[in-house]
Amino acid sequence: MIRAEEAEKLVRAELPWGKVSTLPLSEATGCALAEPLLADRDYPPYNRATMDGIAVSWESYAAGRREFAVTGVIAAGSPEISLSAPDTACEIMTGAATPTNADLVIPYEHIAVENGVARVHLEQPRARFENVHLKASDCRAGAEIVAAGEILNGPRIGIAASFGYANVKARAQPRVLVISTGDELVKVEASPLAHQIRQSNGHALRASLRAAGIGNVELAHLRDDPEEIRAHFSRAREEFDVLIYSGAVSMGKFDHLPALWAEAGVRKIFHGVSQRPGKPLWFGRDDANETLVIGLPGNPISSLVCLHRYFLSEAPRYAVLEEEIRFDKPLTYFLPVKVASHADGSFSAAPLAVKNSGEFTGLALSDGFLELPREMNVFPKGTAFRYFPWRRP
Ligand code: AMP
Ligand code: MG
Repeated sequence: MIRAEEAEKLVRAELPWGKVSTLPLSEATGCALAEPLLADRDYPPYNRATMDGIAVSWESYAAGRREFAVTGVIAAGSPEISLSAPDTACEIMTGAATPTNADLVIPYEHIAVENGVARVHLEQPRARFENVHLKASDCRAGAEIVAAGEILNGPRIGIAASFGYANVKARAQPRVLVISTGDELVKVEASPLAHQIRQSNGHALRASLRAAGIGNVELAHLRDDPEEIRAHFSRAREEFDVLIYSGAVSMGKFDHLPALWAEAGVRKIFHGVSQRPGKPLWFGRDDANETLVIGLPGNPISSLVCLHRYFLSEAPRYAVLEEEIRFDKPLTYFLPVKVASHADGSFSAAPLAVKNSGEFTGLALSDGFLELPREMNVFPKGTAFRYFPWRRP
């Protein structure tokens, strides 16, 4: 059995999910870039006016000129021109190319234009190139503008578009199958018999994946029948990038999955983590098909905690415990909490009064969970611990 920190490292080494492919920009949102994006031209590609007003020569302005004969109007999208003389001005609109010999834009708010003459009526200190976004001041042609590995969010998609990337090389959304196992489980819409329960993990896990931006998720259910599981796996391993099983990975007589994966040649990366809940967590990779195989414990809390802790976590976040907790087993302890953000910048976590590790319905009151390290038994009030939120869109 390994520790939570080791499990985290082993999982991270196998991420990100999804195979590298060339994607149209419209399908790349949320995907990790598999190539650096390079500028195909200077940005901005010309000296760009950043205000509506007049473009004039800085030299004339600095020499004291405050009246300029207006010789034209430059709209955004018109080709670059030159001022006909240093004492003239062109009206210019935001986004237009400033004339080659103009190096100051004075906004309309500071001038009045009458009878073809622009007069500056507001005096204030000005500088050369004020209100001009200089050619190549963002970046030069050929520069790296977004690094490989970055997730394509709104700004990065915009930057890619700006440099002509109609397609990008990125990790495509993984095709994920969530497979619940168990003879006791029936469909949500069924009326269960007294000894049956409704299958909820598939729905909870799919919702969590979707909330984390992983949208391509299908559900399946299998009975605790080795033949059925074996036959299903032989097809699923080829069709999906990630197989997430729930249940059948611990010590029970009907927990067939680890043996079946071994028999099918899936490389086991780990089985068992010294944690509560979620001790039987299984993780491996079917190298022949490049398919990740995740075996989550069936307990509804365990499966959600393991998915969020190892497979959906982002950069570490921390929250301050609002009351002392004691837990004296040599296990990492995941504690459901309700969090609050305070005006002084602090972020606190109040433990939920969960009575036992099987208490599922109490989770409805939680925002996520804290990770209380294995090395400690008393977790003092006022101490910060890692916090994992239930993902939400
Ligand atoms: P297992 O890991 O298969 O031993 O399951 C542990 C516990 O979780 C048992 O009480 C199961 O009934 C329950 N369980 C397993 N899978 C699901 C599921 N998909 N939905 C709800 N409960 C489940
Ligand atoms: Mg089971």
